[in-house]
Amino acid sequence: MSKPKRGRSLWNLPSRGRGTCPVCHSTRIKLLYPRTKTDGTAVKVCKRCDKAPQSKVDAISAS
Ligand SMILES: [Zn+2]
Repeated sequence: MSKPKRGRSLWNLPSRGRGTCPVCHSTRIKLLYPRTKTDGTAVKVCKRCDKAPQSKVDAISAS
């Protein structure tokens, strides 16, 4: 198995794994960490926000 969060495997992801983090609004950051809101919505967040409290994830507005 290759490292799923490093290197060339990212090239297969939409936008090459990058985007704007819905929690901290950093742009062009790698969104590799899935979080699930209390209502069941799946969101991808950046490395920093992988450790964010659930309340931060729930505060993401639907887009
Ligand atoms: Zn973030």
